[in-house]
Amino acid sequence: MQPTQFPKILLQWYDQQGRKHLPWRQDISPYRVWISEIMLQQTQVKTVIPYFLRFMTCFPNLNALAEAAEDEVLAQWTGLGYYSRARNLHKTAKKIISDFQGEFPKTLLEIQSLPGIGRSTAAAILAIAMNQKAAILDGNVRRILSRLHMLEEKTASAMEKKLWELAESYSPDLRIGDYTQAIMDLGASICLRSRPLCQTCPVQVFCQANQHNRVAEFPKPKNAIKVASRSTRMLIFYQADRHEVLLEKRPPVGIWGGLWSFPECSADENLEEFCQKHYGYRVLQTDNMPEFKHTFSHLHLFITPVVIAFTPLGNQIRENDGRSWHKLNQGNQARGFAAPIKRLLADLRNLTTHLSP
Ligand code: SF4
Repeated sequence: MQPTQFPKILLQWYDQQGRKHLPWRQDISPYRVWISEIMLQQTQVKTVIPYFLRFMTCFPNLNALAEAAEDEVLAQWTGLGYYSRARNLHKTAKKIISDFQGEFPKTLLEIQSLPGIGRSTAAAILAIAMNQKAAILDGNVRRILSRLHMLEEKTASAMEKKLWELAESYSPDLRIGDYTQAIMDLGASICLRSRPLCQTCPVQVFCQANQHNRVAEFPKPKNAIKVASRSTRMLIFYQADRHEVLLEKRPPVGIWGGLWSFPECSADENLEEFCQKHYGYRVLQTDNMPEFKHTFSHLHLFITPVVIAFTPLGNQIRENDGRSWHKLNQGNQARGFAAPIKRLLADLRNLTTHLSP
C-alpha cells in the first residue's frame, strides 16, 4: 500500500462518519485539545464528556486554570481517577503562564517539556489545534497499526520503533488535524479492542490481519502484569454533636496524591495505640462498616471503614494544612476526593442522618 492511500481513504470516511459533534471538537484551541486529550487517557469518551463540559465552565481558559487552587482543580476531577493528571494540568497551566508568556508553546519538544504531556499527546495538540504535521501513537493507533501490519516484533523497543515509523509514514501533509481525529475515531468505533467491526472498516482492504483471518491475535499481548493486594482501615473519627469527621490531605505523590481522605491504619496495627499515638484520642467504641475493594491499575486495595467514638487525651489536635474537620451535611466544600471517599462520605451522611434523633 502507498502510505498516501491510507490517510486518503480514512479522511473520506471521517468526512462522512467522524464524531465531529464531540465538545472538544467545537471551538478548537490548544487549551481545549490539551484538556480533552489528558481526560481521554485511560477513560472512555462517554465518561469524559460531562467532566470536560464542567471543567470548561469552571476553567474556561489557561489563566482561569492557572489561577485556581489545586483543590478546586482536583474537585472537578473527582471520579475520573489517575489524579496525577489533574495535578499536572494545574502545574502546566502555571508553567505556560510563567515560562511561555501565557501562549501555548508551538513545538513538539517544548510541549513535551510540560508536566504530564508525552510525545503522542504533544503531537495531538500540534496536529489538531495548530494543523502542524506530527504523528500520534495512542492506544487506538497502536492497535490499528499492529493489525494492519501484523506486527510481531520480538522486543518492546523494536515494537515501539516500528510503530512510530509507521505512524509517521501515514501522517499526511494536508489535513493533519482531521486525519489525527479520524484515526482516533477508527480505533474508538470500528477497530475495537475486542470484536472489531471489520465488515464496516474503511481500511479493511489494507489490513493484513483481516486478510489472513488473524485479527484476534493482534496486538500481541504484553506480559500479564501482576496486580498486588493490600488491606487498610480508614479511621472515621466522628463527632456526633457537630456532625463532623476528621479528614487528612494525602501526600502529593502516591495513591490519591493531594486529595482528601480519612486517616489510615494498617490492618495489623493496634488501633487503640495508633489513635492515641498519632491523634491523642482514647478510643471509646469502634464500629466496622462493610469492607469494600477499590482497584487501581497496579493494586487491589481492600478497605474497611471503622467509625470511632473517641475522647481527646490532653490537647486536641488542631486543624492545620493537612488535617481538617469536615461537616457531613455541607457537601464536598470544594475539596478533591477520590471516588470511593466521596461515596463513603455520602454513606456516612445517610447513616448519621438516619441515626440522628
Ligand atoms: Fe481493524 Fe478490522 Fe479494520 Fe483491520 S479490518 S483495521 S482489524 S477494523
